Amino acid sequence: MANVRLEDIKRRFNNVTAIEDITFEIPDGEFWVLVGPSGCGKSTILRTIAGLETATSGKLFIGDRLVNNIPARQRDVAMVFQNYALYPHMSVAQNIGFGLQMRKVDRKIIQERVMNVARSLSLDHLLDRKPKQLSGGQQQRVALGRAIAREPQVFLLDEPLSNLDAQLRDDTRAELKQLHQELGITTIYVTHDQVEAMTLADKIVVLNRGRIQQIGDPQTIYASPANQMVATFLGSPPMNILPAIYHNNGFDVSGQLLTIPAVVKEKLQLRQEHSYDLGIRPEHIFINERPSGFTVAYNAGSPNRQEENESQLIVEVKVVEPLGRETLIRAGLPGSAVVLNIQVGADVRPRPGDRLS
Ligand code: ADP
Repeated sequence: MANVRLEDIKRRFNNVTAIEDITFEIPDGEFWVLVGPSGCGKSTILRTIAGLETATSGKLFIGDRLVNNIPARQRDVAMVFQNYALYPHMSVAQNIGFGLQMRKVDRKIIQERVMNVARSLSLDHLLDRKPKQLSGGQQQRVALGRAIAREPQVFLLDEPLSNLDAQLRDDTRAELKQLHQELGITTIYVTHDQVEAMTLADKIVVLNRGRIQQIGDPQTIYASPANQMVATFLGSPPMNILPAIYHNNGFDVSGQLLTIPAVVKEKLQLRQEHSYDLGIRPEHIFINERPSGFTVAYNAGSPNRQEENESQLIVEVKVVEPLGRETLIRAGLPGSAVVLNIQVGADVRPRPGDRLS
């Protein structure tokens, strides 16, 4: 096992800078997730760590060893790809044991380790099958098994679940997390899926356009995003961003005055007549039945909430999506193009056209 340290890594392809200013250190045994939209540089970072790409500049350490010029094979890392890349003519057992065989490990030891790995991934009854006789989920587990059997210092996973259907993806995600808890191998995981990032990571690295936007544990990043990109990327439905102008001690949002609690006002040094973007998570909005007053709250929310800490906007319901355990509402601010995502309890069922507060 080993820590992984990147110091000011940059990678250019001809005139395109794919990644730059990439600096972080993953402590031994942690599970880090690189997340961001397509093309933000996630795979390039992972491939650089694997040795499949060369950094244009910067330093890369695995453990205490500077590995910039060490070939992939000698880095003691194992990478799992989204397309599994299994050898079609080999059995499951041969696929899992392949890395060991290449290293001329004793036959007996290979057999033993393949069996152990297969058991831990529930593949032990499939050892004689060929990859094409397996489901997608089983193939992906074989690919994982092959990586695990090598007992690498570092695990690199590039969107390993993206070819699996939803149910299998959830199951395999949980298995991966459990596997990491058991093995404790330093793991770097690339995904564009924010749910995977939030659920798997000890630390998330959010990337955009080849640069790090924020590094932190999932909850911190969710609660205190460093910028609008991070704020809107993590969370589903995404955070609402409302353009507003501060005046008269409140925010003018499309002609409505949104008052704000004194505690918030004290924290932010707001400037009169200045433009702001207000970020409001869908689950932080509550709905009152009638447009004015606080008479009936639909939402269970927090029963003891202080009315003076609430701010109101009138919205017009456009779309209502009951999702079983919650209801998603899309609602517009009258007379403007601004649309809000609102996430409330399953019992809240307004109708399109309703005006709510
Ligand atoms: P991600 O994994 O986040 O989707 P990538 O790391 O694959 O992003 O790509 C980052 C950027 O680098 C993209 O703009 C991509 O087009 C570019 N890029 C990646 N690999 C190459 C390459 N071999 N040649 C040229 N450009 C590349």
